Amino acid sequence: MGSHSSHSLPEQLPEPTTPAGRDGLAALLADPGRAVVALDFDGTLAPIVPDPDQARAHPDAVPVLARLAPVLRSVVIVTGRPAEIAVRHGGFAGVPGLEHLVVLGAYGAERWDAATGETRTPPPHPGVAAVRKELPGVLEEAGAPEGIRIEDKGRAVAVHTRRAADPTAAFELLREPLRGLAERHGLAVEPGRFVLELRSPGVDKGRALADFLRETGAGSVLYGGDDLGDLAAYDAVDRLRAEGVPGVLVCSGSEEVTALAERADLVVDGPSGVVGLLGRLADVLAD
Ligand SMILES: [Mg+2]
Repeated sequence: MGSHSSHSLPEQLPEPTTPAGRDGLAALLADPGRAVVALDFDGTLAPIVPDPDQARAHPDAVPVLARLAPVLRSVVIVTGRPAEIAVRHGGFAGVPGLEHLVVLGAYGAERWDAATGETRTPPPHPGVAAVRKELPGVLEEAGAPEGIRIEDKGRAVAVHTRRAADPTAAFELLREPLRGLAERHGLAVEPGRFVLELRSPGVDKGRALADFLRETGAGSVLYGGDDLGDLAAYDAVDRLRAEGVPGVLVCSGSEEVTALAERADLVVDGPSGVVGLLGRLADVLAD
């Protein structure tokens, strides 16, 4: 890995402009069975149209993904849309070759699996269970007054101070100890009106992608996106690359958004460019 990249890539494929990107693409080609291809939907697989309800996958998108998916570890769609909407607009259900497609919707808060046809909400962040267990001890140690109420929200734990004799004082007293507790377990504290809620830090495509790659044991990743919401996924790939997991960042280029192109290893021309790239990838891997 690193700056001395000397991979030669098949000439059918466009050359990433960065050494890290060339390493990422080379790793995918060398061991496709451990590679994950992760793609945004709107603007990446589906052309942007004035009415978002009318957005549909590029006509070649599903056929090309169906060729690619069987030779890869996994293909995953990562979208801000509700998962089922993306499945419908993408035409992803019931496609031979896409039996194991996963759609992470609502920035990862939802997940649709082609294998079951079901959409589900992933289990809560493991830190929530740890916090639930440690919370009484932390409250006692902090000298929490009478009237503090713990609300178990399943995906979060909330501590209410409204019923304390002095709700504001109790709130301020607990703020720091709870922040420390949350931090120890990878959670964030969301303050509200006399309530401190300990929950998973905001969902974004980066977290969704990183969790999925960990789950699938990905050895390399190609991520393609077109918009600012994809920067979190780019960041996740950058972090993985720093840990030694090769990756290539593809930008579905448009005139509307330039921030992604500046970060990408490979810029292609919109959804048709993305689909074209995936098609050439499928050709090379079929050889
Ligand atoms: Mg998009």
